[in-house]
Amino acid sequence: MSSPPRNEPPNRSLVDFHCHLDLYPDLQTAIDEAEAARVYTLAVTTTPLAWERNQDLMAGLKFVRPALGLHPQLVHERSRELGLWEKKLAETRYVGEVGLDFSPTHQASSFDQRKVFRRMLECCAEQGGKILSIHSVRAASDVLELLETHLSLESNKVVLHWFTGNVQEAKRAVELGCFFSVNVNMTRTQKGHAVLKTLPFDRLLTETDGPFTSIGGRPARPVDVGEAVCGLAQVLRRKEEEVQSRVWQNLKGLLTS
Ligand code: MN
Repeated sequence: MSSPPRNEPPNRSLVDFHCHLDLYPDLQTAIDEAEAARVYTLAVTTTPLAWERNQDLMAGLKFVRPALGLHPQLVHERSRELGLWEKKLAETRYVGEVGLDFSPTHQASSFDQRKVFRRMLECCAEQGGKILSIHSVRAASDVLELLETHLSLESNKVVLHWFTGNVQEAKRAVELGCFFSVNVNMTRTQKGHAVLKTLPFDRLLTETDGPFTSIGGRPARPVDVGEAVCGLAQVLRRKEEEVQSRVWQNLKGLLTS
């Protein structure tokens, strides 16, 4: 087999499709590091108030993109920011972090979360062409139900981030057309393994969800996303290069379809 020409661009850049760059001590440093390392990074935000700064600092970059979010865990105190989120939506193709979180700590706001998320889906459906990074902790079925009812997945794309639903819910999500961004923690649990093995290879992306996951005792950064590739390769019994290459192809497909 002949080796590819020297100056051929790498066909398997790393992909971190869900990272909170603006939650690190210095946003500019975090952006510079991901861009210099050529890691395709979706920088999700947790409040629309953060949007402008993220957008300004990431303007014109090749590898790092901001996403417009309103995190479900913040809805109890920030649901009034939905209007601002709606106003900014036309400025971007990327939406996240949004979704539902029905874990015990956040269940009290489940009614408001549902209302806010539903409205966001309606807005995305209206504009079309969006790519959403969605949180669904203890709420996979609810998220899927809202997606099925309120969002056309023909003109919009959904990536379920750190999916912790069961095998049946995963199947339903696959049928709906969802992608999955997988982090290293998902490759370390029995339940995670069971779900990951059922997901089509062409629907997989990788993520760090930094700084909410750690590598070697410190918050993970986009440059660490190779750990997710490695974990995924072990679970799927495939070569790391194959997984990395497939994830990159999947991202290209997601962005161009
Ligand atoms: Mn997150």
